[in-house]
Amino acid sequence: MDIVILLGAPGSGKGTIASRLAETNANLKHVSSGDLLRGAVAKGTAAGVEAKGYMEKGQLVPDALIAQMIKDVIAETEGDVTMLLDGFPRNVAQAEILAETGAPVRSVVLVDVPDEIIQDRIAGRRTCPKCKAGYHVRALPPKVEGICDKCGAELVVRKDDNPETVKDRLVVYHRETEPLIAFYEAKGLLRKIDGDQGPAKNAEAFLAAM
Ligand code: AMP
Repeated sequence: MDIVILLGAPGSGKGTIASRLAETNANLKHVSSGDLLRGAVAKGTAAGVEAKGYMEKGQLVPDALIAQMIKDVIAETEGDVTMLLDGFPRNVAQAEILAETGAPVRSVVLVDVPDEIIQDRIAGRRTCPKCKAGYHVRALPPKVEGICDKCGAELVVRKDDNPETVKDRLVVYHRETEPLIAFYEAKGLLRKIDGDQGPAKNAEAFLAAM
């Protein structure tokens, strides 16, 4: 098992890239910290109850809470698998916790998209609450409007995808997560792709870079 970290702002397309690649490559496993947390919130676990308020405000949940979830997934992942880690680490403290687990990080790929494009992307984002598939009303529409291609559930707008919360999430990204670029650059692990080439080409560029 080894790990490839996807680094990028909310709405940069990390999740779309990782889920596309995991669908077509049996040895790639997509692990999204946001999906793990939303799952915990939906189930009403103790971690979910604690995380909910932070998530609705676009703030980061406490490091120990999300780190434990990621450690559990790492512990249960064996064999010839590359984990595409999407949304974790989100700050330097989390990167240090990940390093302490000893799990080998193969590379860190920055999905680069300017903030102006991000706002528009998130405004059009639709998500399947059941199977977690992601869509965009223009760039990646489902075959039938408002319905998930994969499982037929009704698509929703994520609560934290409203313009106000998106602004807060971008502030948090620049303040907390962007320092990871220098952190991983110093370790010689950082690669960068242009995340504005459309879903298929973004995924191709990512696969070549990782
Ligand atoms: P995402 O789906 O990656 O945009 O994450 C949605 C929300 O979950 C974020 O705005 C945070 O509130 C929380 N979250 C996800 N990953 C992390 C993390 N690594 N550390 C702290 N909070 C996180």
